[in-house]
Amino acid sequence: MDGASPRRTLCRTKAVASGDQMTKTTDKSNERTILAVGSVAYDSIRTPFGEANRVVGGAATYFSIAAAFFTDVRIVGVVGEDFTERDMMVFGGRRIDRSGLQQVPGETFRWRGEYSYDLNNRETIYTYLNVFEDFDPVVPPSHRHSPFVFLGNIHPRLQLSVLEQIEAPRFVAADTMNYWIEGTPDDLRQVLARVDALLINDAEARQLSGEPNLVKAARTILAMGPRLLVIKRGEYGVLMTGGEGFFAAPAMPLEDVRDPTGAGDTFAGGFVGFLASQGALNEGLYPRAVIAGSTMASFSVEAFGLDRLLSLQRDEVVQRFNEFKHLTQFEAL
Ligand code: AMP
Repeated sequence: MDGASPRRTLCRTKAVASGDQMTKTTDKSNERTILAVGSVAYDSIRTPFGEANRVVGGAATYFSIAAAFFTDVRIVGVVGEDFTERDMMVFGGRRIDRSGLQQVPGETFRWRGEYSYDLNNRETIYTYLNVFEDFDPVVPPSHRHSPFVFLGNIHPRLQLSVLEQIEAPRFVAADTMNYWIEGTPDDLRQVLARVDALLINDAEARQLSGEPNLVKAARTILAMGPRLLVIKRGEYGVLMTGGEGFFAAPAMPLEDVRDPTGAGDTFAGGFVGFLASQGALNEGLYPRAVIAGSTMASFSVEAFGLDRLLSLQRDEVVQRFNEFKHLTQFEAL
C-alpha cells in the first residue's frame, strides 16, 4: 500500500455470524492450508510503461494466486455484483478455495494508482471502498481450522475478528499500512501481540517504531509481539529478523519491470505459501521463504496487474528460486 488513505475507513465491525458449528476436520491436507483475508479489487494502473484499466487486483488476490503455487489457499473477502464470472476465473484451476469470497449487492472495491518514472513513487488517484466498506469477514466453518493465516491490509479490528474465528492457528502473518499505523494504533497493537510475522515496507517500519534506523526499528517492532519481522524494500530487496541477526536478500535484477502493483502481497504469498508447504516450521525455512517471496514478486512486476502470475508455470518458479542462490553466492575470505 502507499501513502494514500482509503476514502473512508473500514471501521464498521458487525457481530460476526455465529451459530455455525465448528467442523473439526481430520483431513490431513488441511495441515498445510492458508486462510487469506483482504481486498479483492478492480484496479486501474498507469506506469511509464503502459496502462491497465479495471483489471482484477486486490491484496488477497495477489497473495492467494502467489501462495497457491505452493499450497492450498482459502480466500476470504468480498466483491460486488459487478464482479463477473469471467473475472472470478483468475482463481479457477488453482489451489484456491473461494467459498469464503462473498458476493454482495453493490460495486467491487476500486483503486487507481499511477507511478512515476523510477516506479518507487506511487500516487493513489482514488480508492472507492464500495462493498468493502461494510466488509465483515466471516470465516466459513470449514475454514476455521486453517493452520496458516494471512491477514491482509484491512482495519486491524477486522484482522482481530478473523483471528477470533480461527481455532488455534499455527502461524499468523499480517500486513498493515500507514493509514492504520496512524489512525488505529491501539487496535493495531492488539493485532501485533497475536501475530507470528509482520510483513511491512521500510517506510511503515520507520513509522510504526518512530525510529529512522531500520535495525533499531526492528528491535522496537519485535518488542510489540511478532517473533519475525520482514521488511520489504522494493527494488532493494528484503530484510528479515527474528531478533538475533538479519537475513537480507536482494531483489532479482530484472530488465523489464512494468508494474509494481501487488508486489508486496505477492511476496507475502510466496513467503507464507512456502512455509505452509513445508509442514513443520523451523528457523532454517525462513530465509528460503524470503527467497520464495522474492521469486514470486519478481515475476509479478514483469507485467501489468496479475498478467505474469496468471501465465506463470511452476518450473519457472523453481528455476528463478535457484537463480537467487547464484545471485548471492560468494566465497568467504
Ligand atoms: P501493493 O502494491 O502491494 O500496495 O498492493 C496493491 C493492491 O492493493 C491493489 O491491487 C489494490 O487494489 C489494493 N489496495 C489499494 N489500497 C487498498 C486499501 N486501502 N485497502 C485494501 N487494499 C488496497
